[in-house]
Amino acid sequence: MTIDSFRALLARTDLFVYERSVDEAQNTVAALVRKDLTKLIAVAGEKSDLFTGTEENGLLLCPLTNENAKAMQTLFPYTKPKSHKGHQFTMGFGDRLGLATPGHIRAIGNHDIYPVFAQQSIRELNLTHRTFTDVISAASFNVFQEGYKKGFGADGDHLKTKEEIKYALESGCTMVTLDCSEHIDQKAATYPAEKIAEMYAALPEVLRKHYEETYLNKELPIVGHMEADELRRVVVVFWDAIAHAIDCYRYIDEIRTVDVDFELSIDETLTITTPTEHFVIGNELHSEGITPISCAPHFSGAFEKGIEYAGNLNDFARDFVVHQEIADFFGYKLSLHSGSDKFAVFSTVARVTKGHIHVKTAGTSWLEAMRVVAEVNPGLYRKAHKFAIDHRPEAERYYHVSTKASEIPNIDLQNDAYLPEYMTQAPARQTVHIAYGMLLEQDWFREEFFRTMAEHEEAYYAALVRHLGKHVRILTSELDV
Ligand SMILES: [Zn+2]
Repeated sequence: MTIDSFRALLARTDLFVYERSVDEAQNTVAALVRKDLTKLIAVAGEKSDLFTGTEENGLLLCPLTNENAKAMQTLFPYTKPKSHKGHQFTMGFGDRLGLATPGHIRAIGNHDIYPVFAQQSIRELNLTHRTFTDVISAASFNVFQEGYKKGFGADGDHLKTKEEIKYALESGCTMVTLDCSEHIDQKAATYPAEKIAEMYAALPEVLRKHYEETYLNKELPIVGHMEADELRRVVVVFWDAIAHAIDCYRYIDEIRTVDVDFELSIDETLTITTPTEHFVIGNELHSEGITPISCAPHFSGAFEKGIEYAGNLNDFARDFVVHQEIADFFGYKLSLHSGSDKFAVFSTVARVTKGHIHVKTAGTSWLEAMRVVAEVNPGLYRKAHKFAIDHRPEAERYYHVSTKASEIPNIDLQNDAYLPEYMTQAPARQTVHIAYGMLLEQDWFREEFFRTMAEHEEAYYAALVRHLGKHVRILTSELDV
């Protein structure tokens, strides 16, 4: 089968063909096509029997199932996620809907940014009723649709246990972001010194001895001299998280079948990560021979979902420089979580790291979908908007946000042309942002929403190019990438 004869077969159908997808391998040609609003893989040639579908006019038309995604990954290896080792600037683009990747690809444009298109946390999977396999398959089909051959990663984000790690790796994730927050004694960060001393004394002697010999009465790189009080607090708060990280790293090494990128995240904590804490964590991993690909400290200021950075930019810059020195010293890069919409810090982040950074975004792509809904289906937007306000107390169980629903202008007083305006206002953004899981569970919303998005996919891609493109532009403005 040649591409020309394949195109001749397609021309005899009424299928819409995604031109960039048409590709050939092993005497087999395939393309992503659409019949009405349903996407399919059309395939013909020697390896067609890898796929499952129905025969029509000499073409096999295959639904976008996980099985067919596997077949496609076998035939076209660029549709399968890979480790991003060796790439300087990497960026996570979480796509909770499975629709956004073509927009993300176009937002990256020609910049040298290695994308992680499949990136979901267990919380996101639960809220959207998807599996890691569903998430990866969606990214693969989207990558195929765009004919994007530069490679992408798949991040099992905020994994907390070995079971979750196993699940992610068995599903094909190429990155593990380990969230140690449940092993961090967060409250101890604010205890008085006497209480810390008591807790410290209760730890095993061998552990105390190790920490004291490593850190006391020494001039440490970057962070200098450490007081005994300070060390005791760091150990009490973090010793179990460090042990958990080492344990999980060994486990990944044992079960992985491909290269896996290991990120350590300590960003979802109550307190800001101090340079000393970061140094001790980095050093403990280093002394076990472990170099994560990236580490996400809890930086100063507020990194709330879907809105601009809130905090003192000078404090942020001062801390960030020290965290970067520590990351450099141990040979990994910093990772910026909840990076969506944090335009105020991007130039500092890019300049200080010289583009050796991982930045994660996710929820903002859902908000862009809702912006499109507000533009093209005002009736659905109005219902969803009211639902999000009514259910905000439930949604706040999963996400911390500081704006108030009472700050949102009453939608009943606005005309349709005003509705997209909501997606530029922090209180409405956060309210709609955290409602995604509950909204997607409502049949009245789900069906009409996905139909609307299918009818207006180019508008969605354009919105993503505009909004994620702004992220990319500011992040790369001072870099040669
Ligand atoms: Zn995070």
